[in-house]
Amino acid sequence: MKILLHLVLLMHLNMDQRPDTTRVYICTSPTAVAYHKSRNGCKGIQACSRKVIKVSKSDAIRKYKYRACKVCY
Ligand SMILES: [Zn+2]
Repeated sequence: MKILLHLVLLMHLNMDQRPDTTRVYICTSPTAVAYHKSRNGCKGIQACSRKVIKVSKSDAIRKYKYRACKVCY
């Protein structure tokens, strides 16, 4: 089971070697699931009722587990 976990981690690292430092916007609401290209240009982030924060794309994906918004990406 431990070996399997290592394999999964290795595969993940190989797929995404360089951190993507592109800045993206995320809503800090617990129901938010996507990161956005701009703060005002997307309906998805405008609907956010919590704080909107700016993070790097790799942080949005790895740390916060967000996916790309279907509207602006
Ligand atoms: Zn969006």
